[in-house]
Amino acid sequence: MVAIDELIHRAYLCKLVGEDGLMIVESMPEEEVTDEFLAEKTAISLNTVRRTLYLLYEHRLAIYRRKRDPDSGWLTYLWKLCPENLEKAMEAEARRLISKLDERLAYEKNNIFYACVAGCARFVFEEASEANFVCPFCEGSLEFLDNGKIVECIEQKMTGLESALQH
Ligand SMILES: [Zn+2]
Repeated sequence: MVAIDELIHRAYLCKLVGEDGLMIVESMPEEEVTDEFLAEKTAISLNTVRRTLYLLYEHRLAIYRRKRDPDSGWLTYLWKLCPENLEKAMEAEARRLISKLDERLAYEKNNIFYACVAGCARFVFEEASEANFVCPFCEGSLEFLDNGKIVECIEQKMTGLESALQH
């Protein structure tokens, strides 16, 4: 069995393939197996097993090989995990998150926000001004909202991810 020991690896995989997916990953032996074998072994539906395997494949965490049965002509897919690519997949995910946070940060920094005093929603200045600073949902007033805390929170998350990348 391929042991996924590190908590951070398990957390990443769980986010990628879900709890059933993680169970499938953890029941994969080091040698090649078929999806049917995994479905039987874990009692998880064949559809979920296949979805999990393709997700892993897309992230280069699994590979497959096709084998044709010489008698029936049927193709069998033989799957194998690539745990050695976990670190790289996690790095790519961290980079993806950083770039999304970066976009969000620019949006927060380049806009001025107003919010309904009753808490219905938040609007950018242009929207609030068009609505004459009256909430379109409850007709309460829209007041200036300081987004400094949100900016700070995004910057902290980005710093955390960037320092994780440097290890
Ligand atoms: Zn409102």
